[in-house]
Amino acid sequence: MKFIDLAAQQTRIRADVEQRLKAVLDHGCYVMGPEIEELEAALAARAGMAAAVACGSGTDALLLALMAKGVGDSDAVFLPSFTFIATAGVVRLLGAVPIFVDIRPDTFNMDPAALAHAVQTLSGRSEGKRPVGIITVDLFGQPADHEAIQAVADTSGLWVIEDAAQSFGAAWNGKPAGGLAETACVSFFPAKPLGGYGDGGAVFLKDGKTADIIRSLRSHGQGGHRYTHDRIGINGRMDSFQAAVLLSKLEIFDDELRRRRTAAAGYTERLKDVDGLRTPVIRQEAESAWAQYSLAADSASLRDRMRTALSAEGIPTAIYYPVPLHLQPAFGDLGHAPGDLPVSEDMARRIFSLPLHPYLEPADQDRIRDILSAIR
Ligand SMILES: *Cc1c(COP(=O)(O)O)cnc(C)c1O
Repeated sequence: MKFIDLAAQQTRIRADVEQRLKAVLDHGCYVMGPEIEELEAALAARAGMAAAVACGSGTDALLLALMAKGVGDSDAVFLPSFTFIATAGVVRLLGAVPIFVDIRPDTFNMDPAALAHAVQTLSGRSEGKRPVGIITVDLFGQPADHEAIQAVADTSGLWVIEDAAQSFGAAWNGKPAGGLAETACVSFFPAKPLGGYGDGGAVFLKDGKTADIIRSLRSHGQGGHRYTHDRIGINGRMDSFQAAVLLSKLEIFDDELRRRRTAAAGYTERLKDVDGLRTPVIRQEAESAWAQYSLAADSASLRDRMRTALSAEGIPTAIYYPVPLHLQPAFGDLGHAPGDLPVSEDMARRIFSLPLHPYLEPADQDRIRDILSAIR
């Protein structure tokens, strides 16, 4: 069994992908070909945003969004510790300081109460960095608590960027992920809900002017002419080939989301009564894109026994994330210690994820249930 099976999907869309790739070969515009604008229009419409700017990866999307905000070395940005390194890495790359916030134990998303506390604590200090914004993360495909987080942002004059790398296709109160804040960043890494066949990403914007700035930043700060430069930017463009693949995948995306939801519901039905396991908690306001199906075991040792038993039967599992970011060596200079963010640290010891993709077979889920329910 594969953790994520991309082969079944490829068989399904192979002919269409080949046709679109052939079109790129025929027109020869490998960089910024017509596929880019076509994809951007389709993405923006889906997220209900004024514009989408395609770029090289989800990491580039976050970096470009922060560059457009002018984030630099006098700034501090609030974000969860329980996320992929990219969320905080880009903040540090620009010289700013990530302020790590703890998560809710049920959804694994940033806890708005902990955020409010962190904002209050930091603004009470006169020395150090100036708080400028918040990055929310829609972990495992479930949107963060957007109203509550936006309320904290509004009362303290902070902007919000939605890291929707894992949640494209999800919704919060019926509003699509990728459109839940003024700026959102999505990844099209192959393992994400809308994954390409390589790296890719997009920045989503409520306002067209910022989109123009991000388009410029994406191409070395290009101005009105190719060799005039208004600002310092990066080479952060998406290939025409990758846009072609994504256009093909968008056609089956709604069906794949339905299949993911069916697979997730199938797991919950089978596992909800297994001793010592907690199935995912999805808030009433949320519809998840099910990037991952993540369970919390009662203890670290139960998690290890379950993973070992599954592995012995050829069933792969994964741990997202074994070390919260505030305890990573890469952020060692920030001076954090174990105990600083107790919920993130506790979940890192007990969480694990099962294979999940649109083509998962119910029979495989039966096997997983049988193995997990036999463990004491
Ligand atoms: C995958 C991911 C990213 C980075 O996306 P890439 O396309 O791999 O650069 C950023 N944030 C989160 C939460 C992610 O899961």
